[in-house]
Amino acid sequence: MSDNNQTPSIQHFMPKDARIFVAGHNGMVGSALVRKLHEEGYTNLLRRSSAEMDLRDQAAVGEFFAKECPEYVFLAAARVGGIIANSTRKGEFIYDNLMIQANVIHNAYISGVKRLLFLGSTCIYPKLSPQPIKEEYLLTGPLEPTNDAYAVAKIAGIAMCRSYNEQYGTRFLSAMPNNLYGPNDNFDLTGSHVLPALIRKFHEAKENGTETVTVWGTGSPLREFMHVDDLAAASLFLMNLSEDTCSALLGYHPSPALINVGSGQEISIADLAGMVKAIVGYEGELVFDTSKPDGTPRKLADSSRLHALGWQHRIDLEEGVRDAYRWFVKSAAGSSAPGNNP
Ligand code: GDP
Repeated sequence: MSDNNQTPSIQHFMPKDARIFVAGHNGMVGSALVRKLHEEGYTNLLRRSSAEMDLRDQAAVGEFFAKECPEYVFLAAARVGGIIANSTRKGEFIYDNLMIQANVIHNAYISGVKRLLFLGSTCIYPKLSPQPIKEEYLLTGPLEPTNDAYAVAKIAGIAMCRSYNEQYGTRFLSAMPNNLYGPNDNFDLTGSHVLPALIRKFHEAKENGTETVTVWGTGSPLREFMHVDDLAAASLFLMNLSEDTCSALLGYHPSPALINVGSGQEISIADLAGMVKAIVGYEGELVFDTSKPDGTPRKLADSSRLHALGWQHRIDLEEGVRDAYRWFVKSAAGSSAPGNNP
């Protein structure tokens, strides 16, 4: 990036009728991407549910790309989950993610996809990384053990994008968002992340008149949260960068083709629990179950690389949590685990 202060040309590099494949369109991130693409007037979206095409199946993915010839790919399909799912089902997390991303990235190259955006997570960074975390801290220290299998898979995806860019001249960019939440989140308590878990726990405790709600760990870890609609907006922004800006971003060293997407909205788990409790209107007590892991103590992304390109998040945390709670209540009417993803 020669001059981070210049306002880049960002408007609609992708034509409105471009053939755009949103891999994982039923998940929280993929569905937000579809909403945003529609809102921006993109009309030619390619979608396959996991029942229609198993992205872990090399032949199926090869056939899809050969037949449909997508021009742009948002790779939002992944095996994702919260701290317990990640630490107890590591085999699934590493296998599913490696297979999905290898098949999609490789076939994107084979079929001449113009641009691909690979979505990961800030858990790729070292457990005790300096804060806020810059892109170049990748691979500078040991990973957080509760999600190392997932992180290794995502790091392999970043390396694959970078390697293909270097060897084949592809334009595959990797974006690492922080803790996301929003509509179509996974609210299943055994697999979910903290925010949907808290929404569900406080809601059910209020409904059932339960006196206490259990929060895992000590409550002291700090996390940065971003509404998934902000990530969708950032993803379209990145996919629409001008050729020059895209080239400059892909050429970043020593961490080429990698960009953090954060909101800077950092909060302790205890304070987050207090916020969700107030939004839900629950009046009982919080209990901290310290037999459950805290995970990494702090995970705040340095998003200055993205900010320098001209993008900022829009959705305030409290407003976003209210939106997520409204969605949960609406979806919960008639379902015991709305947004079970993926
Ligand atoms: P992480 O950001 O990868 O650690 O993933 P999570 O979103 O699952 O957890 C974030 C933090 O919230 C950890 O310190 C958890 O121990 C804590 N936490 C508190 N209550 C819950 C809960 O009910 N579910 C989950 N998943 N995490 C919780």
